[in-house]
Amino acid sequence: MIDRPKLTFWVLAVLACVGAWVALALGASRAAGAPGVQTVSDRAGEWMSRTLGVELEPRRVIVTDELYYPNSRAEVWPGEPGVYRIRPEIAQLARGPWLSFEDRGPTLLGLHVVVHERLHRHETVACWEQRPGQIDVEEGIVDALALDLLPALAWHLYGERVRFFAQWGHEVAAIRALSRFGSGARTWRDRPARMWRRALWAADCAGREAMIAAAAGRAAVAG
Ligand SMILES: [Zn+2]
Repeated sequence: MIDRPKLTFWVLAVLACVGAWVALALGASRAAGAPGVQTVSDRAGEWMSRTLGVELEPRRVIVTDELYYPNSRAEVWPGEPGVYRIRPEIAQLARGPWLSFEDRGPTLLGLHVVVHERLHRHETVACWEQRPGQIDVEEGIVDALALDLLPALAWHLYGERVRFFAQWGHEVAAIRALSRFGSGARTWRDRPARMWRRALWAADCAGREAMIAAAAGRAAVAG
């Protein structure tokens, strides 16, 4: 004889299992129909080219664990133009949000990695040699712009309103602060500051250096 609380427990446990299997099955079937990482990357590239008014060069995606840095999720190699490499699990996540609410974080991280890699330009990726203890300026420029574009892009691709978080926190904070001084905007969120970050990304090495020097000069005067 099973008493009532126990029965309730078992019914709930069985329902939870069924729920999990239904969620998994739905996830699997929707994943099968989701576009591959190359398609997501191409669509993101087209949308960004339109939005930025700058034609982004096409990029072939190589899904591989052969990356230079053990901790990186994806890489652009200077000796490998027209290509970026991405780890298989990140490529999988970039295909679209299809499981439960809890999965949206890592899922959209995949899109973030794709957008970030698409924004590394071969002609500017090596503008600065990073010295120990200094921030990586190129990563800050790229990730700050990725974060400016991602909410609207996620809406365009998936019809989802999502918050994204910096992959390069210190670098993004530094570029945002510079954009405020460089543009004279009240905060880094204001349109002039956003436009300044776009212009910084679009500039060549000398242009980037000049913009940063001018912004840093104004920041120093402002104290
Ligand atoms: Zn990067």
